[in-house]
Amino acid sequence: MTKIFNDPSEFAEEALAGFCDVHSDLVRQVPGGAVRRYRPAQPKVAVLAGGGSGHYPAFAGLIGTGFADGAVVGNIFTSPSAQQAYAVAKAADSGAGVVFTYGNYAGDVMNFGMASERLAAEGIAVENVLVTDDIASAPPSESAKRRGIAGDFTVFKVMGAAAENGAGLAEVVRLGRKANDLTRTIGSAFAGCTFPGAEAPLFTLPKGQMGLGLGIHGEPGLHDTDLPSAEELGQELVSRVLSETPVNAGKRIAVLLNGLGSTKHEELFVLWGTVAPLLRAAGYTLVMPEVGELVTSLDMAGVSLTVTWLDEELEPLWTAPAETPAYRRGNAARDAGALSGEEASDGGAAVAAFVATDASRGYAAACVAAIQAAQASLHEAEERLGRMDAIAGDGDHGRGMVRGVDAATAAAAAALGDGAGAGDVLAAAGDAWADKAGGTSGVLWGAGLRAFGETVGNTTAPEGAVLAAAVTAFADRIVQLGKAEIGDKTMVDALLPFASAFSREVANGVSPIRAWETAARESAAAAEATADLLPLKGRARPLAEKSLGTPDPGATSLAMVFAVMGAHFTARTTVAQTGAKS
Ligand code: ADP
Ligand code: MG
Repeated sequence: MTKIFNDPSEFAEEALAGFCDVHSDLVRQVPGGAVRRYRPAQPKVAVLAGGGSGHYPAFAGLIGTGFADGAVVGNIFTSPSAQQAYAVAKAADSGAGVVFTYGNYAGDVMNFGMASERLAAEGIAVENVLVTDDIASAPPSESAKRRGIAGDFTVFKVMGAAAENGAGLAEVVRLGRKANDLTRTIGSAFAGCTFPGAEAPLFTLPKGQMGLGLGIHGEPGLHDTDLPSAEELGQELVSRVLSETPVNAGKRIAVLLNGLGSTKHEELFVLWGTVAPLLRAAGYTLVMPEVGELVTSLDMAGVSLTVTWLDEELEPLWTAPAETPAYRRGNAARDAGALSGEEASDGGAAVAAFVATDASRGYAAACVAAIQAAQASLHEAEERLGRMDAIAGDGDHGRGMVRGVDAATAAAAAALGDGAGAGDVLAAAGDAWADKAGGTSGVLWGAGLRAFGETVGNTTAPEGAVLAAAVTAFADRIVQLGKAEIGDKTMVDALLPFASAFSREVANGVSPIRAWETAARESAAAAEATADLLPLKGRARPLAEKSLGTPDPGATSLAMVFAVMGAHFTARTTVAQTGAKS
């Protein structure tokens, strides 16, 4: 249990602030995360690690000479937003380009991808390196779908050392991808982890059982086995990792035996006593192995074993000196030179004056009411959505939706107060949602709301056909970003039925309010029906079977929110052909 906290929803921010204070000689807090205290004397590639909080020392603890230049820090187990990634990149860029590197999770891929688009549009060279080391999360034939877990550490270390040596962006990326291709991890858990303030752990294991193949976000193990002895556990981990030895791999390896949060070092040393001899017996030389907490999962009890097969390029990067708050190796020359500016950009655009008609401002007030209605029902459903997400995902869906909708409500009300029309109000709501919710659903909801607003515009209260086009734009944007199809067991399974039913009804001359009601009913039924599906996208995919019988949380919340928003969105709209008021 996490026992020290104030407001649980502020835990990640407060932890980051405390971390940056105590390590102020090495790091500096910036909007979205943290960067090195000192700017490099010469332009160098900025290696920016990222992901949710709850994994310390990953990722902010690894900022420093020979390692990361900055970290983008999301809420607990939640992807940071695109805005955060952008802001940290702006603060860290010294003119030689930036590379985002992170574990392969849909939310992170989308958020770092959107930040990359924005940076590239400003002329900043930017690349992304994904870590996919978790052999339990997909078969070798689908290795690109694998999650990133403790292998983050070796891959980031290699990239950080390469950048420190002056390698250019393409070279840092090439070496990072090579390290990832040669890295394999398997984990196991003995007890689940608990969110600050939560009543119960994200998952539990029966007494005397171990979950093999756990994720680092509380995703339960792929299958449970009887708790083995340390020796049996060591054999299991080693044989699983070595069964995936890369082709043409050499005999020198970097090894991490990683504690997940509440496993004592002494226990890890006992396990190492089995692991190291087995690896040596297999003919390997262990190069600067690490035993300790490197990539954790709140207070989870568990361990993971990572092997990175080294070659003549990777070994010197793995062994190169580093000095970071959480990790020191060798004698790294401390960063010196100019303090990095305190005036970090928050990445925000200057506030534009809003141009809108009175009709659109009137409709904007209805949009704010729609978002407030969503806020009320999401607060009410927060716990239930979290429980649904915990079955095969990471349990954060309720909290993420609440954070998103709270931010959206505040931003929408502020924009309305500043005279914005409906399009700008919805766009502001969407941007705030994506920024504060993090997570896969957060970035999709945010981008969808913005697209809805862009279609509605700032000149009229939309009639039925425009509203249908706005709903379609919402759906299109989500499909475009998330690439999920009907049947993948995601929010798309509730969204596309809604969009097609609403367009169909409106085209048939049904009033928008009635069309919305029909669409919401069909969407709710479709959300319910996802209980029978196996998830093919998102965090729940590796545990597909466990989710059978439970509807998809994102589809459930979408159907629910759309249902309560309808009365507001359609209140001021008309049917163009007849002019009839509904
Ligand atoms: P995360 O998965 O990052 O923890 P949430 O828990 O907030 O984010 O949201 C989970 C929901 O996101 C899932 O239930 C699913 O509906 C939706 N989702 C996941 N991946 C995708 C995707 N690629 N496209 C559309 N929706 C997705
Ligand atoms: Mg989740």
